[in-house]
Amino acid sequence: MTYVIQEACVGVKDAACVDVCPVDCIYEIKPQEKYKNLPMFIHEDECIDCGACEPECPVDAIRVEDEAEEPWITINAQLSEVQDGL
Ligand code: SF4
Repeated sequence: MTYVIQEACVGVKDAACVDVCPVDCIYEIKPQEKYKNLPMFIHEDECIDCGACEPECPVDAIRVEDEAEEPWITINAQLSEVQDGL
């Protein structure tokens, strides 16, 4: 299980979630200008499911995977793979 960042993050990227994540597993794909239509993402293998990020998001974009929707589950997973390749 992991948490997933969804559409509401796109164009906002407040990043309040980053400050509370105890394992620093919330990222923004770079370069920011090229990928501005994507949300920040939670690395699916690094997240420890603590839930600290969910209430911090000012646009309510974060959900536990079981309550999240596609395509955002897949997008977070794919971005995690991209991050591993950097
Ligand atoms: Fe980080 Fe916890 Fe949110 Fe996972 S659930 S992204 S570990 S703050």
